[in-house]
Amino acid sequence: MSLIEQWKKGKANVRKKHKKFTQKLKREKGKKLNELGDELHEQVFSEVDCLECANCCTSIPPIVNKTDATRISKHLGMKLSEFQKEYLIQDEDGDTVMNTSPCRFLLENNHCMIYEFRPKACREYPHTDAFEFAKNLHLHAVNARYCPAVFHILERMAKVI
Ligand code: SF4
Ligand code: SF4
Repeated sequence: MSLIEQWKKGKANVRKKHKKFTQKLKREKGKKLNELGDELHEQVFSEVDCLECANCCTSIPPIVNKTDATRISKHLGMKLSEFQKEYLIQDEDGDTVMNTSPCRFLLENNHCMIYEFRPKACREYPHTDAFEFAKNLHLHAVNARYCPAVFHILERMAKVI
């Protein structure tokens, strides 16, 4: 069974477990966690093909900051204000995000229409590498429900911590 299929089967039953585990991780040293996060990120992403998944682009509207919006609107040949009006909204946390889910830039073959110009949030998702693991513990428990890679990173981490 592929990692994506295992995630589909298991994600509903691990919500509490992952929440408890990420709370436990707060007691670990940040440097050690980031190193392990980086290692497991590489390992899991070598086994998961995002183009067979695209669940983040389907379910989580990304934050689009002003720099992102300026870059994307320029690429699309639109005025910044037109782009903001047509593609962006403010969510309940006050963040500016894409206004549709699935994202309108997601193509049928799961490629991103604006890949080179995509928002920073898309490039950095799911925040498990680049020595960012420890500062996003609260997010990982939530993201494991949306991202098969995060699910498996937490599952593998729980076996060694
Ligand atoms: S901009 Fe591209 S990478 Fe970001 S959510 Fe949309 S389709 Fe996915
Ligand atoms: S949800 Fe995770 S595994 Fe799926 S496409 Fe997004 S980053 Fe890749």
